[in-house]
Amino acid sequence: MAGEPQDDCLFCKIVAGQIPATVVRETETTVAFRDINPQAPTHVLVIPRVHHRDIASLAAAEPGIAADVLRETGEVAAEDKLESYRVVFNTGSGAGQTVWHAHAHVLGGRGLEWPPG
Ligand code: C5P
Repeated sequence: MAGEPQDDCLFCKIVAGQIPATVVRETETTVAFRDINPQAPTHVLVIPRVHHRDIASLAAAEPGIAADVLRETGEVAAEDKLESYRVVFNTGSGAGQTVWHAHAHVLGGRGLEWPPG
């Protein structure tokens, strides 16, 4: 069921502490950790503790928690003293989504081109 932890979900396992991650921030509703395959000097993922397959599903079902995720992207950027950074929600396999638990990428610490590939 949407919102419930999924046995086969990597990020639910990180939330549960069953898979290690370099956690940088935690709130009642979110966890932020460094991406295992960083694409920039700062590359942090902010995830909701609840399981939803993508940001649209999370925002539709639990908009307050979607707002918490957004707020935490700013806190991560502030902690890493980023003046410029990018927040990305890959949504769907054609856009590069590989983990089906909503997550924001916070990328910064280098120049970022636009448009992204
Ligand atoms: O947007 P996408 O679904 O591709 O992002 C998933 C991200 O999760 C990837 O950037 C990948 O490096 C990261 N990841 C991680 N720790 C894991 C598995 C994947 O940080 N254990």
